[in-house]
This record gives sequence, structure tokens and C-alpha cells, in this order.
Amino acid sequence: MAKLIDGRAVAEKVYADLRGNIAELKAKGVTPGLAVVLVGDDPASRAYVRSKDKMCRELGFHSMKLELPVSTTQSELLARVEQLNRDSSIHGILVQSPPPEHIDEATIVRALNPRKDVDGFHPENVAKLVLEDASGFAPCTPLGVQRLLLESGIEINGAHVVVLGRSMIVGKPLALLLMQKNKSGNATVTVVHSRSRNLAEITRSADIVVAAIGRAEFLKADHIRDGVVIIDVGINRVEDAANARGYRLVGDVAFEEVSKKASAITPVPGGVGPMTIAMLMANTVRAATQSL
Ligand code: NAP
Repeated sequence: MAKLIDGRAVAEKVYADLRGNIAELKAKGVTPGLAVVLVGDDPASRAYVRSKDKMCRELGFHSMKLELPVSTTQSELLARVEQLNRDSSIHGILVQSPPPEHIDEATIVRALNPRKDVDGFHPENVAKLVLEDASGFAPCTPLGVQRLLLESGIEINGAHVVVLGRSMIVGKPLALLLMQKNKSGNATVTVVHSRSRNLAEITRSADIVVAAIGRAEFLKADHIRDGVVIIDVGINRVEDAANARGYRLVGDVAFEEVSKKASAITPVPGGVGPMTIAMLMANTVRAATQSL
């Protein structure tokens, strides 16, 4: 059986480190401030926003939660973002994705002050990731995956990492991070997507597989070879009458069969999810530090 990579435990370690940085900032009169903006009432988004707010409070951040009605217009939202850009008590701004259909997300992201864009989606931060300029912010989920691998003692350097999915939130920035020319990178990265031919042949040549495609239990035992490391980013709801909520959460990996072949694997939930929030907190602390 594979070793379980415990995202909650690694996230706790991240928080323990951050508490020291936060105390130092407070001694200098700076309280890290994070504003999370939610437009509409999507239940999953609400749950994410709640857990981010809770974590901010636990760490002693200044936490601002803006819950705006679904009727909020693009120009109203832009005005809110402008306000937050100017607010010196706010170091990080996150506009929860996806916004309602009438909002153009790309325009909102471009309106953010890049130095407060702790989600790492502003074009300036994307460019800095490509350029390997460490002053930028990388997206939180890819950062969380990288940190999980490093903290679990898994060698990234020189490894063949196959990333399933090429989204701007996970797959693409993760590939960029892991191929960076530094000791937390140096991987040989292959990115596969819905148009890739011979997907199983490619995943079978991996040392590390990161699945981020949003397809419940897609990656099966015959996609991998013995001893591979599996990072499951997927969060999918599948119907489950036995569960009080009527559904349960599963990843993009068929955990039961794959864990019999892999050397290490992340569970869903309790793997990448907690790391995403931890890296959001880490990016906010860095934004506050860089504001000094
Ligand atoms: P997304 O924007 O929908 O992108 C999915 C990617 O997977 C696309 O590149 C798509 O290919 C590819 N894909 C879809 N079906 C495929 C198939 N059958 N074979 C190969 N590739 C396939 O999704 P996302 O936002 O990256 O999220 C992916 C998953 O991660 C979701 O389950 C999401 O809930 C989860 N997630 C978790 C966290 C966390 O904190 N744990 C954070 C973010 C996302 P094309 O480009 O060709 O369409």
C-alpha cells in the first residue's frame, strides 16, 4: 500500500512557520490583511470563502469578507476592487472564481493591483512565473502541490512529472513551477489534456503523476507503473445515497486501486485542498512583508 501524503499535517507545518512571520510583522505594526470577494451565492464558493475567512482569523489576520449579490454589475465590482487596491490595511485580494456569467473575470483580474494579487492570476504575475522572478505570486494550488512534494521528501529534481490538465489555475502554472531552474523544480514535465494521444502510455512513464482534470476517479491502476507518486488535485461530487448530504467527494484518481500500486498518494479530501488555503495564507503574509 502507498504511503498517505497528509495535506492537513503539511498545512499545519506551513501555519507553524507563518505564525513566526506574522508575529514579526505585527511587531513592526503590520497585520496581514486579506479581502475575499464573493459575487453570488454558489454554495461551493461560499464554503471556500468561509474556510478562508476562518483560517485568516485563526492566524490573526485582518480578514475582510465581501459577499455581494448576484445582481452586482461589472462596474460595481471594479469599483470595489479599486477600493481594495487603495486600502492600505489590505495586502491580498481574492475574487472568488467563478463569478456569475455577466462578469468578465479576465477584466476583474487585470484590475487587481498585481502586488495584492495573492491568487497569482494577474498577467504580471503570470509573466513573473514564466520569467522565474520570485517577486511575483504563483497560484496557490500549484504552490501547494510543490510544497507537498518537497515536505514529503519526494525528489522533484530530475523526475519525470506528468501533469493531467492544462488549466490556468492548476495544470499550466504547475508545469511552469516544476520545470523552474532551481532546487524545488528541475523536473522534466509533460502536460496532457483532453486532446492528448496515448495518455496511458505517457502516464506510465511518470515518476510523479499530478491529476487535475475534474473527472471523478479517472486515473486507474493501468495508467501507472509500480512505485509512482500520485498527487490528486481533483474535487468531484458523486452521488451517494448513504451519505447524509446525498453525495461524497472523490478525486480524479481511483484511490483504491491506484494506492495498491503507488509508493505515495494524496487522499481526497485531506490532500491538496488544505494546502491551497495554506499557500493563500503564505502568499498574503509575503504580500504584507513586501509592502513594508
Ligand atoms: P478545468 O479548468 O476544467 O481544466 C481541466 C483540464 O483537464 C483541461 O485542461 C482539460 O483539457 C483536461 N481534461 C479534461 N478531461 C480530460 C480527459 N478525459 N483526459 C485528459 N485531460 C482532460 O479544471 P481545473 O480548474 O484545473 O480543476 C481540475 C480539478 O481540480 C477539478 O476537479 C477541480 O475541482 C479541482 N481543483 C482543486 C483545487 C484544490 O484546492 N484541491 C483547486 C483547483 C481545482 P482541455 O484543456 O483540452 O479541455
